[in-house]
Amino acid sequence: MSLTIHRITCKSALTGSGGHFRLNPYVGCEHHCVYCYASYLTRWREELGPWGSWVQVKTNLPRVLERELARKRGIEVFLSTACDAYQPVEQQYRLTRQCLSLLALAAQRDEELRVFLVTKSDSVLGDQDVLQAFPPGALQVAFSVTTHRDETAALVEPKASPPARRLAALRTLNAAGIRTGLLISPVLPHVTEQDLPQLLAAAQAAGCRFLGFDRLNYLNRHIGAKMRAVYGHFGPEAQARLEQACHDPGYEASLRAVIARAKAEAHWREE
Ligand code: SF4
Repeated sequence: MSLTIHRITCKSALTGSGGHFRLNPYVGCEHHCVYCYASYLTRWREELGPWGSWVQVKTNLPRVLERELARKRGIEVFLSTACDAYQPVEQQYRLTRQCLSLLALAAQRDEELRVFLVTKSDSVLGDQDVLQAFPPGALQVAFSVTTHRDETAALVEPKASPPARRLAALRTLNAAGIRTGLLISPVLPHVTEQDLPQLLAAAQAAGCRFLGFDRLNYLNRHIGAKMRAVYGHFGPEAQARLEQACHDPGYEASLRAVIARAKAEAHWREE
């Protein structure tokens, strides 16, 4: 699928309330994950084409963010919800790098500022100097993964960095003193559940400092058809578990049990 880039301007940079804000340098994502919740945004941008085929670039974002940060104290900023801040287009526009530089400066003035960055790309390593400019405790970086298997990832998140590279990047950032962890998001029914022991072992070997989990949502909405299509590759047991996630109210509890068992078996201890 070819990519179309649209340069746009924004009126505000930080969206949210109550001290919790989201920051999206881009809208749209070239990583094209089949389970992407943000793909609902195509509903208001039908003229742009399918999710994964376009990216909107907020060219004036750093200027707007700088103005907003001058007026705020003690906020939490989450990057990002409508894109991956380190999708390939970042290499060209460097908006994420510019925004993180501004946030690092703001964190040096405001000891309560907190930034949480999540990505599926190891190109974040190119900004290690900016990440290290944050005061201790102000920044956490999470690599989002669904499996440790590169061939499975190629089916569900085709343009993101292969998981082995994400885990290697996690190791590098942790070794550089940046608090870095793993966000297993979403836990794909059966697929991720089967992989959890090896994923947790790989995370521990990479020095992972924290773990987060997110169940697969919106199966009854915009991602259901795409998930069923890709589950054709994973066999009947996986397909049955996907349907359970979609229809069975007991799924949530059984998922929590799977996660708890995997963490106990791995002797997982958060730092
Ligand atoms: S990397 Fe994140 S925002 Fe991008 S397509 Fe995948 S899930 Fe969506």
